[in-house]
Amino acid sequence: MDLGIKGRRAIVCASSKGLGLACAQQLAREGVDLVMIARGQEALETAAQSIRDETGVKVTTVAADITTPEGRTKVLAVCPDPDILVTNAGGPKPGNFREWSREDWISAVDANMLTPIEMIRATVDKMIERKFGRIVNITSASVKMPIEILGLSNGARAGLTGFVSGLARQTVAHNVTINNLLPGPFATDRLLQTAERLARDSGKNIEQVKTARKAAVPAGRFGEPDEFGQACAFLCGAKSGFISGQNL
Ligand code: NAP
Repeated sequence: MDLGIKGRRAIVCASSKGLGLACAQQLAREGVDLVMIARGQEALETAAQSIRDETGVKVTTVAADITTPEGRTKVLAVCPDPDILVTNAGGPKPGNFREWSREDWISAVDANMLTPIEMIRATVDKMIERKFGRIVNITSASVKMPIEILGLSNGARAGLTGFVSGLARQTVAHNVTINNLLPGPFATDRLLQTAERLARDSGKNIEQVKTARKAAVPAGRFGEPDEFGQACAFLCGAKSGFISGQNL
């Protein structure tokens, strides 16, 4: 299926690994030129090169922390007017809310609510002018089904979701859609870190934790990042202009 976005430009945040990388790969397979961002230069460059080699699209890398104003300025200097924006950042640490300080909360809200809003603020009006824009926020299934130890994530991402539902209603008439992808358990480094924490807390070994988590998924397995990337590319397709404000 041709998604009709060949030649478009996308900023894909936090994309050297995991779900962000999967989104970048699938967009590139549709012929979209990319700006890829992560803090670690080496993994970012390796990921970018493998996408260039596979697809031949133009890939620019920006080694930056997307959750800082300086990082966002660097990215927007390279690509001030993307057609597609995929927001993403590392998730907040798990834990017990009794141990979290105000600073912990501010940093979670900064990374997982205010950073995507700032990226949207910097790009959405130009999308509206050009009558094409696709914004996908990578959030978490914890927005709909809160996970006990991920209180910082549950809270910050719910804030983003609320904001986006209002904005999506104002942009869709201009063919600018904003949707959220809420990953359940996908087989990435992040999932492994969460499983390790659960294993430590429960005194079980990591394999027992993974088996129990898989058993709780109706599919009986973890999702593959590639499957996530395909959903992202579909939402960014030319014919997806009537899908907006959704939480998938
Ligand atoms: P991952 O495999 O750990 O990959 C995270 C990617 O983001 C890496 O490329 C990392 O590179 C980059 N990154 C992290 N923080 C960044 C920052 N501040 N600025 C720029 N780049 C940054 O994680 P993932 O599983 O793909 O998760 C992506 C998001 O989905 C996270 O917010 C996670 O909480 C959420 N999520 C994931 C799952 C799941 O099952 N995997 C489920 C629910 C929610 P650097 O470290 O080099 O910066």
